[in-house]
Amino acid sequence: MKVTADRDRCIGAGMCALTAPAVFDQDQDEAVVVLLDETPPDDARVLVEQAVDRCPSGAIHVR
Ligand code: SF4
Repeated sequence: MKVTADRDRCIGAGMCALTAPAVFDQDQDEAVVVLLDETPPDDARVLVEQAVDRCPSGAIHVR
């Protein structure tokens, strides 16, 4: 699994960090997404896919 996060698209809604906190965080200043793990283990896939679905800006992707 490979995760990407586009910080230019992110609007700081925080759904990713709430949904999959082992993979996503937000920076302290602008609340923009911080990708903690580009290649999370396969057992994280369900949460990562939920985070992708919940992101209102389409900033995160998984393949
Ligand atoms: S859910 Fe989307 S818009 Fe919100 S912080 Fe995460 S990447 Fe940014």
